[in-house]
Amino acid sequence: MTPERPPFGHRRVVLVALFVLLLLPMRSAGRLHAQTTLHPTARLLQELIRIDNSNPPGHEEKIAELLAPRFKALGFEIDVIPTPVAGKTHFIARLRGDGSRRPVLLAAHGDTVGVEREKWSVDPFGGVIEEDRVIGRGAIDFKGGIAVFARAVMMLAETKVPLSRDVIFLVEADEEAASYNTSWLARDHWSKIDCEFALNEGGWIIKGDDGAVKYVSISTADKASVGAIVTAKGTSTHSSMPRADNAIFALAKALAKLAAYETPINLMPISRQFFATLAKTSAPPLSEAFRTIASGTAGRTALDRADRLVSRDPLLHAIMRNTLAPVLVNGGFRSNVIPGSAEATINLRLIPGTDANAVIADLQRTIDDPAVTVRTVNPITAPVGLPPSREDTDLFRSLVRQAKRTFPNAEVTPYLFQAGTDAGAWRSRGIPVYGIYPYPITADELTRMHGNDEQVSVASLAQGTEMIYNTLVEVAGIKGSGN
Ligand SMILES: [Zn+2]
Repeated sequence: MTPERPPFGHRRVVLVALFVLLLLPMRSAGRLHAQTTLHPTARLLQELIRIDNSNPPGHEEKIAELLAPRFKALGFEIDVIPTPVAGKTHFIARLRGDGSRRPVLLAAHGDTVGVEREKWSVDPFGGVIEEDRVIGRGAIDFKGGIAVFARAVMMLAETKVPLSRDVIFLVEADEEAASYNTSWLARDHWSKIDCEFALNEGGWIIKGDDGAVKYVSISTADKASVGAIVTAKGTSTHSSMPRADNAIFALAKALAKLAAYETPINLMPISRQFFATLAKTSAPPLSEAFRTIASGTAGRTALDRADRLVSRDPLLHAIMRNTLAPVLVNGGFRSNVIPGSAEATINLRLIPGTDANAVIADLQRTIDDPAVTVRTVNPITAPVGLPPSREDTDLFRSLVRQAKRTFPNAEVTPYLFQAGTDAGAWRSRGIPVYGIYPYPITADELTRMHGNDEQVSVASLAQGTEMIYNTLVEVAGIKGSGN
């Protein structure tokens, strides 16, 4: 739902104020209280949103142009890594420590998905602030994260915290689309992003309707994405003489069976912890359903009932199980020919460790039609995904401590991220990665990610910056209490 706004009034005032600010000499700018007191993280996010990084093409180089001079002035070493695509770069800023411990890295992707401009109530690339909310493409995913991580590491330099390890800040290209992503960067420039552990996008800081943070989830694993093809075969012939073995009908029947099919609940230990946390932070009847799911000992009937209730939320439905979604359908080439085959592409999102071939066999059994076959797009020979990152590290412990300190009434839990991120570049090399969208958001704000009027509150950005800065002081500071 769109939050209510006055039709023009407030926005016009902000625009006029901005215009006046531009005309004012620096020393009298202090008169405009609202603008000059804007939190530095919100101001940086505003600037980042004004760069259109919709991918394709991404234009990530423009972020490097914005950030490089600022980091350089604070004593960071800068690397702008070009890719074979003009305008597409990875940005790396390194703040040197005394080298007694291995680096900590903060990764944030610079590209965003595109917009359906006509569905936005403001310019998605205008850097609009209304009622203490920054609105624009990437506000949550993940320019808000760039702003929070950047400000937190800049503050380490500004406050001259003595460091026992390098702190590396990375703005990545091609996370949302295309191929010069972090895996590419890791292959060719590993020494620049090698670290003891890393922070990335992933879990959530979820606010209730009363504005209080209910829980903080820190992702330690991502689901794996696997493509599958369902192919139906029939006789190719003149459409004036239809036969029983029609490929398109066969495909439609197969898809109808898959629509009615539900994969079983399959909880990783981190997901069990996550649902136990939800049980503590919600009201009946949901709290009871979460407890039933987390227990692992409930009978079939109780479990099915809890599953139905909890699965009304597509995110929670996805965390509990492997999911399948048809995403492309293809069949036929002209209106007077019955095609000999028709196919659908299914996007499988699998829990790490799943045998994808066993899932394919389940789908084949469910369809139960010799005219229809299911296969993975690429052959798969090993369990999919990467095991969860360890929780016994300084970075994870410190994140938990600082999350509890910043949001005293919130529960903190590890989390299986329902989608994919670029954490694999490190996790596949045995380096722990922890994911968080570092600002409190509501369920409504979460649905706007990749959607319309994406937004985050200035207060949330300020809280997130504080939390990440304190985490880094603990983890990388020489007097750090990280143990
Ligand atoms: Zn993202």
